Amino acid sequence: MDGVIYVTKKFCRFLDRGTKTCTVYPQRFRAEPDCASTAQGLPMMIFPADCPYTKGIEGYIPPRETWDDPAVDDFIREVLGDEAV
Ligand code: SF4
Repeated sequence: MDGVIYVTKKFCRFLDRGTKTCTVYPQRFRAEPDCASTAQGLPMMIFPADCPYTKGIEGYIPPRETWDDPAVDDFIREVLGDEAV
């Protein structure tokens, strides 16, 4: 949208929402090509502020949370289609 990374309500199909763990962890990069390792995700600043991997990193700017922002849903729908929201 404007160069900012947003956290949305969308979640990975392999996330167990009850335990908040990955159901395919040993094969995660093969199962989900968009899955980012910590080495990839930290420089991109895609992990939330409460992620333990981000603790103590000076200048780390977490994604903006947009749980109830319909403008973000509209943008995602426009770019990725209705099934993405
Ligand atoms: S670790 Fe990767 S594959 Fe597993 S739930 Fe998270 S994003 Fe999905």
